Amino acid sequence: MRITGLTVYQVDLPLREGAYKWSGGKSVTVFDSTVVSVQTDAGLTGWGEVCPLGPAYLPAYAAGVRAGLVELGPQLVGENPLELAKLNRRMDAILKGHPYVKSAVDIACWDLLGQVAGLPVCSLLGGRYGEDFGLYRAISQEPPEAMAASVAGYRAQGYHRFQLKVGGDPDVDIERIRAVRAVLQPGDRLIADANTGWTQHEAQRVVRAVRDVDVYIEQPCLTYEECLAVRRNCDHPFVLDEVVDGIDMLVRGKADLAMDVVNIKISKFGGLTKARQARDLCVSLGIGMTIEDSWGGDIVTAAIAHLAHSTPTDFLFTSTDFNSYVTQSIAEGAPQRQNGRLAASTAPGLGITPRLDVLGQPVWSC
Ligand code: MG
Repeated sequence: MRITGLTVYQVDLPLREGAYKWSGGKSVTVFDSTVVSVQTDAGLTGWGEVCPLGPAYLPAYAAGVRAGLVELGPQLVGENPLELAKLNRRMDAILKGHPYVKSAVDIACWDLLGQVAGLPVCSLLGGRYGEDFGLYRAISQEPPEAMAASVAGYRAQGYHRFQLKVGGDPDVDIERIRAVRAVLQPGDRLIADANTGWTQHEAQRVVRAVRDVDVYIEQPCLTYEECLAVRRNCDHPFVLDEVVDGIDMLVRGKADLAMDVVNIKISKFGGLTKARQARDLCVSLGIGMTIEDSWGGDIVTAAIAHLAHSTPTDFLFTSTDFNSYVTQSIAEGAPQRQNGRLAASTAPGLGITPRLDVLGQPVWSC
């Protein structure tokens, strides 16, 4: 099978809650997502999606996805989409870095592989663990009482894991963590995600002030070294996210005992092929995982579900269902949350059918 062309669509994903706010006053109201289809000489088409969390979260931005695909796409015509390791090496040879640009292409080729094999991507990624898996809900940064009310509401919808967006004023963040923990029950998990927003001394104050609180601390500071210093001065379970973007950082973090859990975002690693490699290494090293992406709609949510559902349950700390955060559906057949849990499709490939009327006219093709 050979790739005969790529088609790129742009789609807006407005947020149900109106705005999503995190550290440093950053916020997004409408997500700018890119959908890619990969056509083949066998008549099959695979679908992928990538959606950065705005331009100020990771070194990735929405227009950059499209610019990168214009560079990458024409040179992929003629390649075999089913030989995914080879295809990833080819993409890395054509375009250095920019893993998020390659993510949607890689996801689309996994969709093709599943269609050809007659198997869901979940099976091809290692096999399905259990009926479904648990999700977290990200709680946009608001005053402490508002975040506690938001958590109580989402708890009533079946969620038991809550990721608070902190990384603001440390004194207010301490109140946020305490206010939310007070509305939780035994068995619920609380994560305080600073998204690199605290300086090292601020992070030290927060972890000391909430020493008696059952809470995970996620990515408190900008650099790995700052996070490691905080980690060594606290006894909370510790999650690294933004600074872990490849295998080398995973190995370094394991050697330093820098984290208990890592956040594996598909596009941060460059697609399902590389995220799967990281996932399998984490299982071998005994590291728990949050499996998700930077953001996305139905197609990203389907890809997350296949990777999360094929992760051994005891290593899957949590995952997410981005398609429930936004008002626009872009594909039929995408997984839908039920009682705070999600399951990957059992249909071949990703198991989704894009809504072409929603995607509209392509912005580019080759
Ligand atoms: Mg995070």
